[in-house]
Amino acid sequence: MAQMGRAVGASLTLPPLSAMAQQRANNVDKRKVNIALCGLGRYANVLKAGIAASNYCHLAGIITGTPAKATQWMTEFNIPHKNSYTYQTFDQIIHNPAIDLVYITLPNGLHKEFTLRAAKAGKHVIVEKPMAFTPQDCQQMIDACQQAGVQLAVGYRLHYDPHHIELKRLGQHKVFGQVRLIEASLGYRLAGIPPDDWHLKKALAGGGPLMNLGVYCVQSARYVLGEEPLAVTAQFGPVTMPDLFREVEENITWQLYFPSGAICTSSCTSNCSIDRFYASADEGYFELEPALSYGPFKGRSSQGAFDFPVVNQQAAQLDDIAQHILSKKALPSHIAGEEGRRDMRVIEGIYRAATTGQKVNLV
Ligand code: NDP
Repeated sequence: MAQMGRAVGASLTLPPLSAMAQQRANNVDKRKVNIALCGLGRYANVLKAGIAASNYCHLAGIITGTPAKATQWMTEFNIPHKNSYTYQTFDQIIHNPAIDLVYITLPNGLHKEFTLRAAKAGKHVIVEKPMAFTPQDCQQMIDACQQAGVQLAVGYRLHYDPHHIELKRLGQHKVFGQVRLIEASLGYRLAGIPPDDWHLKKALAGGGPLMNLGVYCVQSARYVLGEEPLAVTAQFGPVTMPDLFREVEENITWQLYFPSGAICTSSCTSNCSIDRFYASADEGYFELEPALSYGPFKGRSSQGAFDFPVVNQQAAQLDDIAQHILSKKALPSHIAGEEGRRDMRVIEGIYRAATTGQKVNLV
């Protein structure tokens, strides 16, 4: 049978594949942004559902260090071998027109390296938060993408959630007057995590909950006020799990001081759960709880409850980025590389303030 099949196939002159059929065979869709996910861990598994729910994105490729995941994802998403890379073969992606964008979901310490490599290969980049370890690293990533003529976004999903769009409106339009005090905190209890998990390793995580969760608190204060913080004070909290937290902080609390006089106090922790945002203004308050996770969020203000439809944050984020790329427009500044650099400037200041015990100027 096998011989007969070969003989029949060899004797036929097949018509050329139509453009559409060729695209299908390559698992590429030219009406969409063709994405390769880099690092197939927990968040990549959230994003695959976001890509599936999006209108303008297509999962075309993968970059992984785990052969079993490569097999599983190629089967599940009809990804051809030629669109599947390891970290060693990744640079060959430069020769692959079926991939437009690399979405980096690697441990934090690898964000910079893979952004530089993706840019060098001429691919647009979305990099997960935190963008990198220092503002200088962020600047190098911005410069590399600019020089390569590709766009760089940070995975700031909350900008696409209607509850956060409402927080921005309430704060920046002073619906309840000038905001004076903000409390924004996020934490998860990590007891039971394996001691060799990368989140506990300075080289791969860059720090503890501040590195992993802090950008959400810093960002929400920045976009609700529409201001940049002038200075910061900060304090490390107690270490209650010394076997786990040898290299990175377990708890940290900080205060950001803004030009209007507003103050934002935040905690990020790995020893309890907290997920809330509260703003007190001259004529009222507004809050979300949950506030900074995947939701569904619940809003309340001094005028009563407010609720918006639950959206797939990742699909909304991906579609906005894709539409800009497809129409060759610059990405909105609030999710572009420069925004990530500003956040890292603040986070670096928070660590400096906690380490020195001094108030640190950010301007
Ligand atoms: P995971 O540990 O679940 O996944 C990371 C993946 O990176 C691994 O599965 C592995 O994939 C790959 N990898 C490559 N080198 C290493 C290494 N040395 N150690 C460990 N993993 C390695 O992490 P998350 O998915 O939770 O986080 C990844 C990134 O996404 C982080 O930067 C995090 O901050 C961000 N994130 C963002 C969220 C958001 O809501 N925006 C939510 C959660 C995380 P493989 O086996 O394929 O090589």
